[in-house]
Amino acid sequence: MRQKTFHIKFMGDDWKLILQSDAAFSRSHPEPESADATALTDFSAKKIWFRASEFTLYHVIHELIHARFGYNCLDEASLSHDQMEEIFAKYMGEHGESHLKTSKGIFRKMASHAEKMVG
Ligand SMILES: [Zn+2]
Repeated sequence: MRQKTFHIKFMGDDWKLILQSDAAFSRSHPEPESADATALTDFSAKKIWFRASEFTLYHVIHELIHARFGYNCLDEASLSHDQMEEIFAKYMGEHGESHLKTSKGIFRKMASHAEKMVG
């Protein structure tokens, strides 16, 4: 059971990115709906957990979208699919490049640690 925590500033807040072995991931997230998860974001705790065995740039980009959209407080809004699509299209048009740049930086920093944890 191994894990390594990385600290980043995101949207002005301190976030913890936690890279975990499969055993550590399962122990942190025992609930059945997380059994097949490869990564999880808890916006209120400002934490993102990643399975080291499935750590990819895709997962960093994906979880950072969850982290970023948490700041929009949309979960209470019951937006339609079209509205969500418009918000996401606008976000990617305006901030997609910087989102990708941030994600790639995080991925580069964590990837070698993920490999060591698995290998
Ligand atoms: Zn997701």
